[in-house]
Amino acid sequence: MEEYVGAIHIHSDYSDGSKSIPEIARIAQSVNLDFLLFADHMTLQPLYDGHEGWHDRVLVLIGYEINDPENMNHYLAFDIDKVLARDLTAPEYVRQIHQRKGLGFIAHPDEIRHAFDKYPPYPWTHWEVDEFDGIEIWNHMSEWMEGLTRANRLKMILSPRKLLKGPTDVTLQRWDQLSSQRKVVGIGAIDVHAYPYRLGPFTIVIFPYKIQFQSIRTHLLLAQPLIQDVQKDRRAVYDALRSGNLFISNYRWGEAKTFRFWAENKDRWAEIGRSIVCREGVDLRAWVPVDCQIYLVKDGRRIAEVFGKEMFHRTDLPGVYRVEAFRGKHAWIYSNHIRLTISAD
Ligand SMILES: [Zn+2]
Ligand SMILES: [Zn+2]
Repeated sequence: MEEYVGAIHIHSDYSDGSKSIPEIARIAQSVNLDFLLFADHMTLQPLYDGHEGWHDRVLVLIGYEINDPENMNHYLAFDIDKVLARDLTAPEYVRQIHQRKGLGFIAHPDEIRHAFDKYPPYPWTHWEVDEFDGIEIWNHMSEWMEGLTRANRLKMILSPRKLLKGPTDVTLQRWDQLSSQRKVVGIGAIDVHAYPYRLGPFTIVIFPYKIQFQSIRTHLLLAQPLIQDVQKDRRAVYDALRSGNLFISNYRWGEAKTFRFWAENKDRWAEIGRSIVCREGVDLRAWVPVDCQIYLVKDGRRIAEVFGKEMFHRTDLPGVYRVEAFRGKHAWIYSNHIRLTISAD
């Protein structure tokens, strides 16, 4: 497999981010990211202006972040070339993105932040819809805002990655539950804006892009390498996002490249995001680049754990399985699910 590491959910100066797309791409390249998925609020103007494509060694793809007329229910839409009408309700835009064969992710689904009146929470409230492709399971901005208090404000601003704990239990449980019904891809998001923030007499930038690009990363596993052909590479990245053949890491706690999780029965093997028949037994295996605490999660419950570089678990029980890896108390890697089924259909 070819592994490509990128950052998803980025705001540029087309909406409330603070830098231009070429500048942001240069910063991403300086910290070895391979791709960026931009999602400015309610606009695809950067796509129309020709910003999609290779910026030297970084592939820039442009989608947008949709909200409803009350500015609630934020939704990331990719793989589309036209913005939808602005007055749609959340169920309407989820459906329309799906009908146009776009790719849709629910943004910050369980956000509860409350530290700044200016930045209220924007949780998802329309769980009756089911035509979305995935959800953000880990959003740096949401988690940071949720952890913020008057007392720790300075510390949080000075080291914005340090206090990240990991995806919330509420979101993980929701994701596991949804995934038991159908494929729901979990992605990592940084939701980077690089807000200028006034602290007494100073104005400082919360979350410079460069710092955020070294936090929550999404690692795509592709069958073929990218070839610097925008249309083909765009297709490959979006297909990997659709299939869920990916994992999420927090780079703050180490380079997670080469992490793998797969399942094998006597006939074949299945990578992350796929299904495999388990009737006659399946070996689930994970490999991490350094010793750490590895957990195997089945249908939302941790069923096995090991400290080291490898995990092995044999089972014939159907369900959705994923892996979490921790370094000390720090959440580091989250894979997407592998589905074990009784029969091939
Ligand atoms: Zn949002
Ligand atoms: Zn956003």
